[in-house]
Amino acid sequence: MFSFLSQQRNPSDSPRKLNIARLLLAALTLSSSMAIATPKAQANRLETFVYDLNDSKIQFSLKNDIEPKGIVINNPTRIVIDLPGLVYQGPTVRRRVGRGVQAVRVGQVDANTTRMVVELSPEVTLNPRDLRLKSQKPGEWTMQLPQNIAAIDLNSVTNFILPIAGSVISSGFGWRVHPITGERRLHKGVDFAAPTGTPIFASADGVVTEAGWTDGGYGNIVELRHEDGSVTLYAHTNRVYVSKGQVVSRGQAIAEVGSTGRSTGPHLHFEIQPDGRTAVDPMDYLQMRQVTLDLASNSFKD
Ligand SMILES: [Zn+2]
Repeated sequence: MFSFLSQQRNPSDSPRKLNIARLLLAALTLSSSMAIATPKAQANRLETFVYDLNDSKIQFSLKNDIEPKGIVINNPTRIVIDLPGLVYQGPTVRRRVGRGVQAVRVGQVDANTTRMVVELSPEVTLNPRDLRLKSQKPGEWTMQLPQNIAAIDLNSVTNFILPIAGSVISSGFGWRVHPITGERRLHKGVDFAAPTGTPIFASADGVVTEAGWTDGGYGNIVELRHEDGSVTLYAHTNRVYVSKGQVVSRGQAIAEVGSTGRSTGPHLHFEIQPDGRTAVDPMDYLQMRQVTLDLASNSFKD
C-alpha cells in the first residue's frame, strides 16, 4: 500500500450538518449542447476547485452564488458542470488525477459560461441519477462521485508518493515554450511552486546516485535510483541533505526547495524515469489524494 505525506483537508470538509439547502440533480444524458441561461453581467468568479480522492468528492466555490448545471457525457465518460453567466479568466487548467478519475479541468466554453469537467476512465459506467450537486451554503458546492470510481484509483498501487506537501503545480509535463530560453522543448517533469526551504521528500525508497550541483540548468539536484531500476530527480534545490551512495527511504527529507540553475523562482522540478532513462509524466505514477486547481495560476516555472 502506498502512503502519503499530507492529506489536505478543506475546511469546508469538517463535519457539519448539511443544511438541506438546495439539491440540484445533475441529470440528462448524451448531450453536450444545452440551452445556456441568460448571462448576467456581474463580477462573479470561480474561486476554488478541488477534487478529493479520499472522499471521491468535487468541491468548488463561487464568489456570488449561481446555480450550476450538471450533465454526463459518454464516449468518453465525463461529468460536465457549467456555470452560466460566469466568465472564467485565464487559460484552461487541466490536471491528471489517476485511473478512475483521469483528469479534472476548468475553462471557458463560450463567452458567458465557465465549464468544469471531470474526465473518467472508459471502465467507469455512470448513472446520472447517482450524481447530486449540493450546496451547503451560498457559493459552496459539492458533488459526491460514486465510491466505485475512487476505488479504482485507491486500488492502483504505486510506489511513488508526492515529493512535496501542500504545494501547487505551476507547470506540468509536456511540450512548451521554455520560460527563459524561449525555445519549444519537452518539459520532462512537473514543477511544484513552493517557498525556498520547503522540504522535499524521497518519492520512494532508493539510493542517492547524484547529489549537488549540475551544469545542465537543473542547479542543485538529488537523483535517486529505486529498486526496480526507476529513477526520480529533484531539481533547482536550495540545499541538499543527502550525499551520493546514501540509502534513503520513502518520505525522508532529502533536500529543500530553491531556485538554483535555470529557474525563474523557487520551485521543485520533479521527474520520474520508470526505465531509469526516459522521463514520463510523473502524474501518471503519483497517486494524489486531493487535486486543487490553481485558478489564478501565475506561479514560477521552469
Ligand atoms: Zn520544471
